[in-house]
Amino acid sequence: IGFAELGITGSLLKAAEGVGFVTPKPIQEKAIPAMLEKRDVLGIAQTGSGKTAAFSLPILSQIIALGSKRVRKTARALILCPTRELAVQIDDVVRELSRHAHLSTALVLGGVSRSSQVKRLAQGVDILVATPGRLTDIVRSGELSLAETRWLVLDEADRMLDMGFINDVRRIARATHPARQTALFSATMPKEIEGLAKSLLNDPLRVEI
Ligand code: AMP
Repeated sequence: IGFAELGITGSLLKAAEGVGFVTPKPIQEKAIPAMLEKRDVLGIAQTGSGKTAAFSLPILSQIIALGSKRVRKTARALILCPTRELAVQIDDVVRELSRHAHLSTALVLGGVSRSSQVKRLAQGVDILVATPGRLTDIVRSGELSLAETRWLVLDEADRMLDMGFINDVRRIARATHPARQTALFSATMPKEIEGLAKSLLNDPLRVEI
């Protein structure tokens, strides 16, 4: 089977094939149809499993179906991850996959110019990839509202826990729209992550790879 059978169509399907994603990986086969049906997903998966496309494709598909809608100082989808390197990597994949779709994306992470990030957020973005520290700072200062964020991904949740970001993650999640769709990915499932998943996910499909 291909991505079309999982429900990915049109320019998104073309973009996926364009980067060499032709045969879905197991995690994609399970997560994509579930997320397209608006189900939350709890993925226990390592780097290399194909998890980035597993959450990006169904979110992009839903946003494309609704059309790009920028509202100042808001992000429609938020992908939170522990490190700058991972954030840059995810942002690259999201931009490649949405290249024909004219969506706006932004990257918020520490260690680089804050003002250029804030300037981009001021116009509103469809997809935001962020690390918790800098994002918390920008939300606190009122330069971004998450109240209309209806897609939330927590990637490498166990590493965010190890790095001491868990309270930031909880606060950020609480600031998003209550009717959001949520996906949480983690390589391991310590008690704290099970607890986080229980409090943030609504009847999730559990995918273990
Ligand atoms: P990830 O686990 O998301 O970091 O992905 C691991 C690697 O697999 C990345 O280099 C992706 O480009 C690649 N990849 C993801 N999905 C597919 C696919 N369906 N077919 C071929 N390569 C893929």
